[in-house]
Amino acid sequence: MIEAEDLSVIYGAGRKRFRAVDDVSFAVAEGEAFGLVGESGCGKSTILRALCGLEERWTGRLVIDGVAVAHRRPRAFHKTVQMVFQDPYGSLHPKKTVHATLMQSVSIQRLDDGLARVERALVDVGLDPGFRFRYPHQLSGGQRQRVAIARALILEPKILLLDEPTSALDVSVQAEVLNLLARLRREHTLTFVFVSHDLAVVEHMCDRLAVMRAGQIVETMDVATLSAGKVEADYTRTLFEASQGYRRAPAAEPA
Ligand code: ADP
Ligand code: MG
Repeated sequence: MIEAEDLSVIYGAGRKRFRAVDDVSFAVAEGEAFGLVGESGCGKSTILRALCGLEERWTGRLVIDGVAVAHRRPRAFHKTVQMVFQDPYGSLHPKKTVHATLMQSVSIQRLDDGLARVERALVDVGLDPGFRFRYPHQLSGGQRQRVAIARALILEPKILLLDEPTSALDVSVQAEVLNLLARLRREHTLTFVFVSHDLAVVEHMCDRLAVMRAGQIVETMDVATLSAGKVEADYTRTLFEASQGYRRAPAAEPA
């Protein structure tokens, strides 16, 4: 479904020239959930932006749903690939109702069954259709992220690019939204590229993952390999042990 070959993104020029993504190659099969993990600033979001056409300064080769894509994407491309951003506060227009937000891409694509799609998308993400009359400030963080997910689903895409979709949410809400995403993936046979700095989340959500550092992929592996602790690169081991320590820490605290 996705093939990236020698993908690079270079920002700035001269002495400020900087390879945010540095010769990265990976492939994601149809229906697979592929994780991208690594520290803040290692290039995860930049890869997603290049995949969905928001970042045009890339070189290399990108094949999406069997088509080698150009820098500018045709309108129909967005029916195949949609993105969910980290921050549900920033990603929804504060003065637009949920209905208006969800209708936007329906109108851009000139589809005529807008209202039915809006209602179906809301039900799909576990919100009552009556939510379409609300404004973002009338929603909780989790509900906002559900609306952002509904917006991504409304065109029935094949690929969802998820950029830390739960890291801005309260811990209590994170699991709900992760479970929702896992269910939607099953029900709609979606292909996921799932970005997170949290190995535990990627372990829960993904089939395979790539570990990134400073714009490069250090290691690509099955999640089972990660769970068994059979990682090869020292860097991955450090990340893995840090996440294990993090998971153990709360249990060590007296109740
Ligand atoms: P991550 O998502 O892994 O935290 P990003 O992909 O957002 O990392 O960023 C990778 C690097 O590229 C960072 O050092 C970031 O500061 C830099 N960067 C991101 N976007 C831009 C931009 N538009 N112009 C210049 N540098 C950028
Ligand atoms: Mg990021």
